[in-house]
Formats: sequence, structure tokens, C-alpha cells
Amino acid sequence: MSTRSERISRLLNEHGFSVTPGRRVVIDALADREVIFTANDVVAWVDRVDPSIGRATVFRTLDLLSQLGVLNRVHGEDGCHRYTVCDAGHHHHLVCTACGRVIPFELTGIEEEIRQAAVQAQFMVSSHRVELFGLCANCQAAQSPRHPTAGD
Ligand SMILES: [Zn+2]
Ligand SMILES: [Zn+2]
Ligand SMILES: [Zn+2]
Repeated sequence: MSTRSERISRLLNEHGFSVTPGRRVVIDALADREVIFTANDVVAWVDRVDPSIGRATVFRTLDLLSQLGVLNRVHGEDGCHRYTVCDAGHHHHLVCTACGRVIPFELTGIEEEIRQAAVQAQFMVSSHRVELFGLCANCQAAQSPRHPTAGD
């Protein structure tokens, strides 16, 4: 059990949810992932650890973790939604479309601009998300012509 999965378990307890053996396996499977994943990925990871845990348990646990803010949905460029494990606090995401890595970032300036745009439109904002898609530093280096891939 990692520090992150302990933190998630504590959060469940604080909100009155017990950490059942099924939930425990789901949490351990996803807690330390640094890349985006789909619900079906989690089903496959959990199945490797304990095949007796059904899809319904996995899907319900993912919903619960989303409600608690542990997971955020990332809307991929392909329209398919995926999840990322998030630490507490408002932040945005840089999503690498090649390797799936998610890098959290904060920009205070953007928060104020969003707030002002909403005021001007007389719109009451309940939440917002900012996701930037592209290539992480590693994937840029891998695509660089200075590092030709095998067969070039
Ligand atoms: Zn996040
Ligand atoms: Zn990448
Ligand atoms: Zn923001």
C-alpha cells in the first residue's frame, strides 16, 4: 500500500465510506498511476489482482472517487473520457497525447481572467477545467530528428 492509497483510504473514511476489500484493491490499482486511464484499464488491473471483483464494483468505486475529487475526468482528443488521479487543491492538467502522462499545473492569472469573463457574461460559474493537450518533454525528445528511431 502506497502513501497515496493510504491518503485516499483516509479520505473515504472521513466522508463516512468504509474501505471494503474490493474498494481497497481498486484504490491500490490506480493510486500511483501518472498516466491517464480508462475504466476498462482499471477493470483489467483489478482482475489481475483479484478476479472475484466484478466490473460493477470497479465502476461504482470510480464514481465514488470522482465525487470525492480523487479522480478527475480528462476528455481526450478522441472524445473518449479517461481518468487521472488528483491531489487536493484546484489545478489544471497538461496531458501528453503520446504517452498519456498528466502534469498538474496552476496559473493564478487564469483564475482571475475566467472570473472576469464570467462576470461580464453575467454567468454564475460552478466549476471550470483547463486541459492542454500535446507532447511532454520526454515524447518531444523521442520525436526529435537528433534522435532518429531505429530504421530511419
Ligand atoms: Zn489533477
Ligand atoms: Zn509523453
Ligand atoms: Zn482553474
